[in-house]
Amino acid sequence: MNQDVIAGCYPCDQQVVAPLPPREDVVHTEHWRVAHAFNSTLPGWLVLLPTRHVTSFTELTPDAAEELGGLVHRLGAALQVVTGCVKTYLMQFSEAEGFSHLHVHLVPRLADHPQEARGPRVFAYLTDDQTRWLTPDERDATALSLRAALAQAHDEAAAHPPRCPGAPLIPRHS
Ligand SMILES: [Zn+2]
Repeated sequence: MNQDVIAGCYPCDQQVVAPLPPREDVVHTEHWRVAHAFNSTLPGWLVLLPTRHVTSFTELTPDAAEELGGLVHRLGAALQVVTGCVKTYLMQFSEAEGFSHLHVHLVPRLADHPQEARGPRVFAYLTDDQTRWLTPDERDATALSLRAALAQAHDEAAAHPPRCPGAPLIPRHS
């Protein structure tokens, strides 16, 4: 039995399923798994989940905490490619009944995003009404598009490494 997960916790129960569909494993790192929110009506609403059951940021290992920034950065760029969003929202509460497993919401904010659903009110896109949820196929399709965008960004970064990473950003004048 994996000591890092707790039976009956939704993210933990998903964590031990293999193989996971793309919507539940858009991408993963050593310490994080990225899922498409199951109860979203907005394509691209992502949830970043620690692979261990933790309920606050302070319980993350230093390595897991350090991984988060780069992951948010890369996923934000992929969301811009896939959804055309102008920026992303980043939120963490983990307060819903049965969902205390730390989860970080990363949400695309589109140019034509309705005014009444901006800022914290973006949670209007999450609903208990299952008839309005994106279908599993729709969530899988978005997940696969995001994977492709992440892979392309990775390939481009590998093809064009910084020529002189140690060079000063501002030329010196003596
Ligand atoms: Zn858990």
